Amino acid sequence: MKPIQVTQSSMPDFDEFSEEIRGIWDSRCLTNMGVKHQQLEVGLEQYLKTPNVSLFSNGHLALEYAITALNLTGEVITTPFTFASTTHAIVRNGLTPVFCDIDPNNYTIQTDNLEHFITDKTSAIIPIHVYGNICNVAEINRIAKKYNLKVIYDAAHAFGITIDDEGVANYGDISMFSFHATKVFHTIEGGALTFKDSSLNNVFNAYKNFGITGLETIDYIGGNAKMNEFQAAMGLCNLRNVDQEINKRKKIYNRYLEQLSSVNGIRLTFPPSCVKSNYAYFPILFDGFTLSRDEVHDKLKKHNIFTRKYFYPITNSFECYRGGFSPEETPVAKYMSERILTLPLYGDLKLEEVDKICGIIKA
Ligand SMILES: *Cc1c(COP(=O)(O)O)cnc(C)c1O
Repeated sequence: MKPIQVTQSSMPDFDEFSEEIRGIWDSRCLTNMGVKHQQLEVGLEQYLKTPNVSLFSNGHLALEYAITALNLTGEVITTPFTFASTTHAIVRNGLTPVFCDIDPNNYTIQTDNLEHFITDKTSAIIPIHVYGNICNVAEINRIAKKYNLKVIYDAAHAFGITIDDEGVANYGDISMFSFHATKVFHTIEGGALTFKDSSLNNVFNAYKNFGITGLETIDYIGGNAKMNEFQAAMGLCNLRNVDQEINKRKKIYNRYLEQLSSVNGIRLTFPPSCVKSNYAYFPILFDGFTLSRDEVHDKLKKHNIFTRKYFYPITNSFECYRGGFSPEETPVAKYMSERILTLPLYGDLKLEEVDKICGIIKA
């Protein structure tokens, strides 16, 4: 049997893509914020219902530059239940991550005692909308205002999600989206920052292009993180098709729900009714199930079905942070990371394949 991977990149029709890149061939303008780049920024501002979008070569560098541009110092409060990128972006800026635990119900930063982590060195909070579960943005906003902290959301999983029709891109000072090939919307590799303060547009345009602000002026110590025209062209094609992709995912997601929501020892998360989801992931938590998470993972693998222990290990247990941080600081995150598994989910996954996966888990 053909292997089932945990994800599969969505692709536009080949003809649609080749038509989209024809202009690039003719103009020979391949990068440096060209025509496709501009069109994609405008298209994304509309789709994400947000005033400013700045594109980057990938989501990780977008996050690194967001931290740099806000001139953060000292300590940043975040959680370890995330992809390596979030913690690394903080540390690579010379800052210290302070790990707050997660909410056991939706895996985002827990806000009940978040204030206890604030010291006179704290400059920001970097929470993650894990699996597209939206953080407690109202409470985070209240705390940030009270202590004069910046907020940057890692919204890599949250493309296109709305809450009461408000785009998730509008929370905090900046949100980072990833357009990596494995995400719901992709530009092969790519990412973006969204923000309300329009003056940041020029700052990000400079940072991602060596700090250059004029023909003979270099105002920032920037780097190179520009999205090229081919990436932007892929984005323009995928943006036309993204609603269709999300609808296909929704059908698969609902089939999983039907099959797994009443199984003893399996816990699922349900978004509140005001949230329009993007169905990016299908995480399931094995808590009191007859098999452990690792046993289910291995059993499915024997059937050529590949799931992902996502997020495991948590970032404060990485080898590279040994001696600095410990997973014992965040017991809920540690507990969840040992029991969570994300199941295959992508637009072209067949309902029969979902039934098969669930059948193996339940058998
Ligand atoms: C994918 C991802 C990133 C990094 O994005 P890239 O575009 O791959 O650099 C950061 N944070 C989270 C939570 C992610 O899932």
